[in-house]
Amino acid sequence: MVRISNKKKELKEEEIIQFWKDNKIFEKSIEQRAMDNPFIFYDGPPFATGLPHYGHILSLVTKDVFPRYWTMKGYRCERKWGWDCHGLPIESICEKELNLKKKNEIYEMGISKFNEFCRSKVLWYANEWKKTVDRMGKWIEFDNSYKTMDNGYMETVWYIFKKIYNEGFVYKGKKVLYYCPHCETPLSNFEISMDNSYKDVSEPSITAKFKLKKELKTFFLAWTTTPWTLIGNVALAVNSNREYVKIKVNNEYLILIKSQLDLIKEDYKLVVEFRGEDLLNKEYEPLYRMSTGGSKKGHFIIDGGDEVLSDEGTGIIHMAVYGEFDYEMIKKYDLPIIQHIDEHGNLAEGPEEWVGLWFKDVDKKVLEDLKQRELLFNVEVYTHSYPFCYRCDTPLIYNALDAWFINIQQIKPKLLETNNSIKWYPKEISRSYQNIINSAPDWCISRNRFWATAMPIWECVECKEMKVIGSVKELQEKAVEDIPEDLDLHRHIVDKIHLTCSKCGKIMNRIPEVFDCWLESGSMPYAAKHYPFENVEWFKHNFPSDFVSEYIGQVRAWFYYMHVISVLLFDTIPFKNVVVNGNILAEDGTKMSKSKRNFPDPNLIIEKYGADALRIYLMSSQLMRAKDLNFKEEIVKQVYRRFNLLLTNVLKFYSLIDIDNLTMDIANSDNILDRWIVSSLNKLIQDITLLMDDYNTAEVSRLFFNFIEDLSTWYIKNSRNRFKSEIIKEKLSAMKTLSYILYNLSKLLAPLTPFISEKIYHKLKKRRLVNLKSIHLENWPHFDEKLINSKVHKNMELTREIVQRSLELRNKSKIPVRQILNKVILRGINLDTEYLDVISDAINVKKVLVEEGDEPELLVELDINITPELKLEGIARNLIRHLNNFRKKQNLSTKNRINLYLKTKDKEIIKALEKYAEKIKKMIQADKIIQIKEDKENLKEFKIENSVIQVYLEVKY
Ligand SMILES: [Zn+2]
Ligand SMILES: [Zn+2]
Repeated sequence: MVRISNKKKELKEEEIIQFWKDNKIFEKSIEQRAMDNPFIFYDGPPFATGLPHYGHILSLVTKDVFPRYWTMKGYRCERKWGWDCHGLPIESICEKELNLKKKNEIYEMGISKFNEFCRSKVLWYANEWKKTVDRMGKWIEFDNSYKTMDNGYMETVWYIFKKIYNEGFVYKGKKVLYYCPHCETPLSNFEISMDNSYKDVSEPSITAKFKLKKELKTFFLAWTTTPWTLIGNVALAVNSNREYVKIKVNNEYLILIKSQLDLIKEDYKLVVEFRGEDLLNKEYEPLYRMSTGGSKKGHFIIDGGDEVLSDEGTGIIHMAVYGEFDYEMIKKYDLPIIQHIDEHGNLAEGPEEWVGLWFKDVDKKVLEDLKQRELLFNVEVYTHSYPFCYRCDTPLIYNALDAWFINIQQIKPKLLETNNSIKWYPKEISRSYQNIINSAPDWCISRNRFWATAMPIWECVECKEMKVIGSVKELQEKAVEDIPEDLDLHRHIVDKIHLTCSKCGKIMNRIPEVFDCWLESGSMPYAAKHYPFENVEWFKHNFPSDFVSEYIGQVRAWFYYMHVISVLLFDTIPFKNVVVNGNILAEDGTKMSKSKRNFPDPNLIIEKYGADALRIYLMSSQLMRAKDLNFKEEIVKQVYRRFNLLLTNVLKFYSLIDIDNLTMDIANSDNILDRWIVSSLNKLIQDITLLMDDYNTAEVSRLFFNFIEDLSTWYIKNSRNRFKSEIIKEKLSAMKTLSYILYNLSKLLAPLTPFISEKIYHKLKKRRLVNLKSIHLENWPHFDEKLINSKVHKNMELTREIVQRSLELRNKSKIPVRQILNKVILRGINLDTEYLDVISDAINVKKVLVEEGDEPELLVELDINITPELKLEGIARNLIRHLNNFRKKQNLSTKNRINLYLKTKDKEIIKALEKYAEKIKKMIQADKIIQIKEDKENLKEFKIENSVIQVYLEVKY
């Protein structure tokens, strides 16, 4: 018995990954493109301090699809992995592991020890990342990655800082910043809003009574949600343009804004109305006596303007240094600065017995104290959203801090202007990015932390002269100590180096701050290549980037900071095309959370459906339009069925057909289905190219789904007879067409689904139709305008509609498709014979008649009368179908001839067998049909309309 070899297991994705590695396909795909034709790509560096999640997978797939695409278009697209190594994320992990509860404990153990511990932990999960990157089919130079903690990287950051410092963009100042009292460092507003670090909290809000000086029993009512700040009160603000009232409650006089009078639940008597401006400069007695540390005067009424709302609180705002607006007012009115909370978040000054309490615990004390002193007007539980540290989950406070800033206001016009030449996908992001620029505060670039690039500023102990250093070499020249060329620029090393003051000759120490790690990320285009200390020539051709991509939170982060730095350095944009992804949420729309287990493990999804299915699921989704997506395994499964499974079945079908002299030449086919699928494919190439140029993978995926459905359920389904035909010319033209389609489809799919496209390519290679080692060394296909025929598309559309309606009619009259019918009559249309042939095959009728008439639209009439003749013919076809199934089960190819032995008692079947003997023989590749009466070994059995038939297929050769 002859067996054909196509039964071999399908290539697994893991085997394809190994094949790429063994044959260095990625490296070759780059090397074969010219150096002077680059497509420049920056891969935003992630942290290796956690395992990759769906968001990372989305990002790494997006960043794989487009580099693959542009590579196929002939560009040299080098891709290098990078790691973010610095900052709070790694520091807080290390604090936990070392069981350090307070910042002080880091000083106690030694910054050296702490930083080296961070260094040892920072690439902890790098291997897991490598696995995921590989498994998803992402191509990137991984092992030789750059790291933000490399000496070269940090030296570039020094260079950049010195340059912009010298150009006057850097200043030192006091600003009110969000501050984490646990991490003891300021955080930027965007860091807090980026990952939504606000939580709804319910806590007591109180209305306190501030006694007016010189007036008996008269109080201002001021409302606050942070009672602990009352200790540091320096003023009360009113809106000078609003109406205020003085009322009498019991035997006291109270002052508040008129519009909020219904806050007063007791009986009251209105004493007098006046405007806010009449209250200005009135003095009151502070709730707590504090030293103001100087001669500045406080505790009087100031004008807060429209910031004082008329529909919240009492229209009188209490001012302390712990608020952005407050700080503005403090500067404006030259009020004293009272910082009564220390850097650890504890009360530093105030009632003696409270000193040392955690600031949040002070709330309760204040409340009880004011109540006892009859200065508490009202307490209620108030729910509001409050920011927490995104790393350690400590409630943040606003704090006025000394810090270093980059002056963003100065470069805003240039940022806005250059934004016009950035192409954002989707387009709408451009507008929101413009708003981000417009409202951007100056950039606080200093952090009071440890594991980051040390700020290269030295300060004289005596005269406070400052010196900024821009390179290791410069430091070598100016340092008191001897230092090596490969000096590590982390704080614990650099702090041991001193300079001599050029003004007074005394010693200079480095200031304690380190850089905000966003300064490092934003410096990536230069620092990753140690520019300008190295790669000056390379840089000329590799900046700005053609393409970057990240999730939407990075618009105001990585993208913004890269933009700021490139404008500061070169007055230009750092990237041309930006693809912004949405967030992936759990199925119920909440945040994916490990502890809630509300999402399936990515590894399991990949194992079940394959990386290609996950890739196309993500790329086809609204995530690619920067919208959030609820991750649904059910949809991954659907995508797998609609895409992977259909395509795999097409490939299986293709593999099973034996034929000699196969090429991919489509010139000679005049079959309408061939012409139609070839036209569809060329249209597909045209459309997909435009969409890929426009970074629109969602639409690209939709077109793929449709095309594969067309290919499988229309083209192949209706061409089956030709694929199995005895007429070599017919069979060859179908196979040539399918080969041509698969070849081009594999190229189109290569960027999006690199695995299945490689599988297709290997099938073609087996037939010696292609000769490159891998699909990924091919070029992007061109379409041929002459092969696109819109008339064919229109007619085929109509043909499909007729078939669908005829099948519905069959369905309604419960006649199976196997039963041949006499005719279908069509009215209201005009179609060439070649389409009518497709119809007659597809719906199994002998004749398709087009009858002219005045019908304005398509009418389909199916003749459902089954004559005895038709019945016999139906039986014959049924036999053929069953017998071919047996052939398939025995793994026979179309070349294998058989003798058929058949046993049945059914007279009708015998009649059909005799009448259609020749046809049956031809269709099942049999030389003889032998009817037998006695039993025979290995007889197989099936039924046609309740009659039993037994057969034996004798394979001849
Ligand atoms: Zn913190
Ligand atoms: Zn000095």
